[in-house]
Formats: sequence, C-alpha cells, structure tokens
Amino acid sequence: MTGRTLLRGGLLIGLDRSVPDGQVGVDGRGDLLIEDDRIAAVRPALPAVDAEVIDATGMLVLPGLVDTHRHTWQSVVRQRGADWSFSDYFEEIFLRIGPRMRPEDVYAGTLLGALAALDSGVTTLVDWAHVQNTPEHADAGIEALRDAGIRAVFAHGWPCTDARRWMSNSAEPHPADLLRLRERIPGDDGLITLAMGARGPGSTIPEVTTADFELARELGLRITMHVLGDNDVVRLHGAGLLGPDITLVHASRCHDGELALAADHGVSVSIAPQIELAMPGLGLPTIERLLAAGLAPTLSVDSETAAAADMFTQMRMAVAAHRAWQGRELPARDVLSWATVHGAAASGLSDRIGSLAPGKAADVVLLRADDVNLAPLTAPAEAVVLAAHVGNVDTVLVAGRVVKRGGRLVGDLARARRLAAAASEHLR
Ligand SMILES: [Zn+2]
Repeated sequence: MTGRTLLRGGLLIGLDRSVPDGQVGVDGRGDLLIEDDRIAAVRPALPAVDAEVIDATGMLVLPGLVDTHRHTWQSVVRQRGADWSFSDYFEEIFLRIGPRMRPEDVYAGTLLGALAALDSGVTTLVDWAHVQNTPEHADAGIEALRDAGIRAVFAHGWPCTDARRWMSNSAEPHPADLLRLRERIPGDDGLITLAMGARGPGSTIPEVTTADFELARELGLRITMHVLGDNDVVRLHGAGLLGPDITLVHASRCHDGELALAADHGVSVSIAPQIELAMPGLGLPTIERLLAAGLAPTLSVDSETAAAADMFTQMRMAVAAHRAWQGRELPARDVLSWATVHGAAASGLSDRIGSLAPGKAADVVLLRADDVNLAPLTAPAEAVVLAAHVGNVDTVLVAGRVVKRGGRLVGDLARARRLAAAASEHLR
C-alpha cells in the first residue's frame, strides 16, 4: 500500500498512440494521479484528495525508461574495458573475471548497476545474468534487484566457469536451476519476472538449442539471445523455433533475409549503440536495416565495462550513428519509443509499462526541463533524446514508490559502494 500521489503540473510525454485523445496519447500539461502501484488518471487539474503532491512544474514527465539487455553483474568491473575488442571482452569476462565471481560479487555488481540504472531513469532492466556459476549466484542477483527496488526481467543464463563447455558447440543443456527459479518466481505480480538468457545456435549443438527453447516455452518464459554470428536466425527458423517470445541481442550480423524472418515472426531486437560503436568486433548498430525490415529496435547498455549506465547516451548514440551513415531523419519521438513502449514489449511487459496510460504501473520519471542545459524547452522529445542527462533526472518512481527524489537516490548508496569496492578489489 503506497497510497495516493499526485504529480502536479508537469509536461507529460505520451508515447502510447493507442490511448484515446484527451488522455495522454500526445504531450500535454497536466496532472498524473497514482493510486498504490498504478496510474489512476492523467488529466489537467486533478483534485489532490488525500494525495501526496509532487510539484512537477517545469518538469517533463516520462514513462520509465527500459533497458532491454544489461549484464548488470559487470557493473562491479566498470570501465575496465575501454580499450577492449570483443575478443578481449570475451577473454576477460568469460575466462578471467567471470570464473572468479562469488555470489557476493554478483550481489554487489547487480545492486550497484541497478541503482545506477534507477538514478538515470531506467525503471525496467532486463538483467542479462550469464554468471550462473552456482544457484547461489542466481539468488544473489535476484536479491540485489529486489533490494534496489527496480522492475527487472531476470534473464537466467549459464555458468561463467568453463566457456568452452558452455559456449562452443555446447552439448550442455541450459542449467536446470531455471526450474527451481521458476518455482521461486512463479508469476508476474511483483517487480521481478523470469526469462531465459539462451545461448542459441551460435553456441550450442542443434539438439540443445531446440531443447533449451522448448524448456523456456514449457516454463512460460521469454527468451533473449545474443546473435553475433551468421545465419543464427536462419537456423532458428529451420528448427521451427522463431516466435514473438524471442529478443535478439545486437543482430548486426544478421542479413536482410534474417531480419525479414524475425519481423515475420514478431521477434524483438535489442541494440546497444554505444558499445557496438566502440568495441571492435561486436558489429555496428544496424538501425537502418532493422527499420527497413519493419523491426523497431529497443535499446540497451549491455555492459558497464565499456559503456555508460544511462539510456540518454544510448538514444544519442543511436541518432548519431544513424544520421552519420544514412543521412536520413530519425524522429526523436521514435527513438524515445524504442526506449519505452517497444522496450516494454521486448520485456514481455506491454500491458504494464511503457507509457503514461491509466491502468499501467506507475513507473514514472521527472526531468527538470528548466535546468540550464534544457531551458527554454522548445521540443520536448528532442530535448530528452539529444540533450538530457542523468543530472536532469529529478524524481523516479517504480510501481508508485519513489526511488529518487529531488535529484537524490533514496536507496542505500553508501552500502552499495562499499560492497562493490570489496568485490572490485577481489576481482583485481
Ligand atoms: Zn550482451
């Protein structure tokens, strides 16, 4: 029970075009009423009966941002990979750092990363957790997400202990611990949902790929999978495994025919513009080809070893990459929708998040539009995509609960810092 909260007088950015006129399908100045964990109403001049009032004058009110792929555990080794190529990344993460991760290191990295996400207005995180060295590692990651108070999809991966066995033509099925976790996270009532972080045809023998995908579907879980090689999508299609419950990560090496197959089967795509641009060997963002295939990308940070923790950076990088190569316009509102409405769909949470519509969860971000870098506000969506930064994020709510207020995180940042420092030291 969180009671009633009224966000008064902000400029609301609506991104859900299905919402009827007069609600919040378009931008407009107004109030947003939250009851418990839901948005109850969005209208001008709502009465503040029994509600805590948050003054949103001079603020942009946005739906919480959605990051569709982040290896949050790696926040504990932030910025170690500034000069890495993708093969360096692979060696460092899967051969050196990953095998030494203890459950407490996973907890520390995930807590710190999730708090950094919240600080920047990311209210939903697909935590791509491929560090399942023991069941305690999974429990530690989930506990950290819960303690951070973020909405998360816990994408359960595989152990980071024996890369050859798990990632190279692997005959190992997905770890059976997923079944235990399904018991622990049975439904989708709370903030955490479960997904499979699958290895897919680039890393497993065909029988295992099929068995893994069938397991996820038996358990009612979405599947997210990195695509770094050729023809992975063709192989999935050939095995009859493509479906709308899949998110492909990166996908820059997919040829146009594969992207068409993905679009035909309702598959989502997550791109990570900053790290794709900066890490040689990962493949460059493929926005133009995705759009041509009818796929709206979603956006992701991927790894804080070589990327910033916020989605403003990802949105800007996407625009810059697209404009540099294609020279064509890319409406800011579309980019913002990738980080909200489309991200919600790729997370399997369309019915709950992604826009400021009555009935949806109250995951809301307030940006100070009168800050020196944004005033005078002439184009709200453009301001968010091209110029806003974490310092403009004033207030963040997840399911109606304030997690950042007046520019400061509510959570115990000192504890997160201390735990992360200890873990970082262990991993040095
Ligand atoms: Zn990744």
